[in-house]
Amino acid sequence: MPELRQDPATKQWVIMATERAKRPHDFKKPSQPEPLPAHKADCPFCPGNEKMTPPETLAYRQGGPPNSPGWWVRVVPNKFSALVPEGSLTRREEEGLFRKMDGVGQHEVIIETPHHNQGLALMEDKQVEEVLLAYRERYLTLRENPRFKLIIIFKNHGLAAGTSLDHPHSQLVATPIVPLNIRHRFEKAAGHLDDDGTCVYCDIIREGLRVRQRIVMETERFVIFHPFASRAPFETWILPKEHQASFGSISMNDAKEFAKVLKTTLFQLYQGLNNPAYNYIVHTAPIKDEHEDYFHWHLQILPRLVTPAGFELGTGIFINTALPEETAAFIRNLSA
Ligand SMILES: [Zn+2]
Ligand SMILES: [Zn+2]
Repeated sequence: MPELRQDPATKQWVIMATERAKRPHDFKKPSQPEPLPAHKADCPFCPGNEKMTPPETLAYRQGGPPNSPGWWVRVVPNKFSALVPEGSLTRREEEGLFRKMDGVGQHEVIIETPHHNQGLALMEDKQVEEVLLAYRERYLTLRENPRFKLIIIFKNHGLAAGTSLDHPHSQLVATPIVPLNIRHRFEKAAGHLDDDGTCVYCDIIREGLRVRQRIVMETERFVIFHPFASRAPFETWILPKEHQASFGSISMNDAKEFAKVLKTTLFQLYQGLNNPAYNYIVHTAPIKDEHEDYFHWHLQILPRLVTPAGFELGTGIFINTALPEETAAFIRNLSA
């Protein structure tokens, strides 16, 4: 019997198609793709090609001038930006019903390593830590701009996840509006706080740790699990155990532990599924609500093992062919 499950945080439904269910190891890709070179002459993110990108907004390097080699993490504006920093925030009614405004915002690329072929899953913990510290530093700088309402950090890894460049990188977009989809997430969480007086994510953590079957890993400050209403096989959430609304509030120490946990999680997926394509998103409170009780920042990893089709696009309801209880056990057994 298929089962509908509701995500307690967003109230969105997912169909668990247990009849069509595959065993976790069935999602493993059959073979490794061609190995990448360590350096690629025409890659805009490889050292020596700094002039191929717009001037950097941040770089970690030991001496040397900006926009030269010697860095280990580098942040640059996206050359093909979805949004740009200049323009007006005024909304205009141009053709009666149709509203528009300038595409104001900031779109940046975080180049995670000088090595063309070294993905997050295979990096040293220390390097992942530097990447997360760069996220944090850019967040804290951009939050000071009064035009920005929300800062979203995400990563596309692999062709099926929509990436156009192999060189390991993530992206950051600061937006002048809170997108509707995300507002829905905030409103549902705020509603839970109104009704129950608690943060829904704190409740999910408490319940998850009690039941334990969907937990993949637990450290002193973080918990990693496959959510009850997983939208996709092997969907994974990483949450700080202690309530914290904004990723921007993460301490240096917690960022170090977060790096270790993220690296381990990505390595397990790499190992268990043979380097799958994935997207991850850091969900964080709007800038004005960084200290509110209703939201709890977290990182959501969505492996792209299946392609959402017409039903998903038409209804927003995802069909998942793997049970999170089984996929979480599969990952736990890998590391055992
Ligand atoms: Zn490269
Ligand atoms: Zn919380």
